[in-house]
Amino acid sequence: MLTFPIDTKPEFGIPMKVEEGIFLLKMPIPYTLDHINLWLLRDVEGWTIVDSGFYSEESVLLWNKVLTDFCDNEPIQKIIITHFHPDHVGMAQWLAHKTNATVHMSQIEYLTTHMACQDYSDEQKVVRCQYFERFGLGQEEVGKLQNRIGGYVVGVPEAPISYQRLVDGESILINNEAWHLLQFSGHSPGHICLHHKQRDLLISGDQVLPNISPNISVNFNEPEGNPLADYLESLDSLSTLSNETTVLPSHGRVFNGLRERLTVLKDGHHKSLDQLRSFCQSGRSGLEVIEELYGNRLSLFNLSLGTGEAMAHLNYLIEIGDMSRTGDAVYQYKTN
Ligand SMILES: [Zn+2]
Repeated sequence: MLTFPIDTKPEFGIPMKVEEGIFLLKMPIPYTLDHINLWLLRDVEGWTIVDSGFYSEESVLLWNKVLTDFCDNEPIQKIIITHFHPDHVGMAQWLAHKTNATVHMSQIEYLTTHMACQDYSDEQKVVRCQYFERFGLGQEEVGKLQNRIGGYVVGVPEAPISYQRLVDGESILINNEAWHLLQFSGHSPGHICLHHKQRDLLISGDQVLPNISPNISVNFNEPEGNPLADYLESLDSLSTLSNETTVLPSHGRVFNGLRERLTVLKDGHHKSLDQLRSFCQSGRSGLEVIEELYGNRLSLFNLSLGTGEAMAHLNYLIEIGDMSRTGDAVYQYKTN
């Protein structure tokens, strides 16, 4: 059972104290999941910001108010970004420009942000179409997915220009207190979590969330990738932290009960893997697998996430020898 130590519901754009020197800043994002939690940490002479929000006029207004009123125009010492997704990195360059603070990220998240902000070349578009078509999606859906305006076009108008590298296993000082950096793969290639050992606090980003299972996706540029193996490994690694840890997630409420949450997340993936072992006894297309796992009424955005996540489960099963993939134009998956 998870417990939630904070009863008050945060309001958009109004920092709320969650721990000594740590404030949750809830910001709007244009998804079904309507918010992201950013963190404002008291630092020596000023503040450190963790994650930046999805770029929008509203975010600009809210940040301007927070920097002036709440932070009292004190210096921003660091902008730490957990990973490259638009709701996390979107306002980073705007904030860096505005405050003169340096953006801190893992190297791979920095590079991936720059890659994600590029338009696809014609050749990339062809390869991305093939990725969907081979998974059994129809021409109409593929066309719509191809024309869909991605989150980076609006949400990340500029990737951070310069940055300081965060390295797994090292620590970063915030207010003269050491936060241990833990780098994980699975949800994104080099996601950073920050762990304060003495105070048993974990800023978990999207790696562990209280209510939803973070998206684990195979991307079109690495179709044989096995991100689910990486993600499950990260859950094992996080389970070495104390169960008393207070978790500060990017979506949902601050919670206690880390180990229970890790077990539920892990069991959820293993349940899906078992489901696919039975479902694919007779050969199935990727689209059939998506519908088996997530139903057939997905929005376009969820269809693209569902494609990546269904493929992540199938690739995991192929890797451990439980599944075979045949076909060229459209793949067929069959349990061994
Ligand atoms: Zn994310």
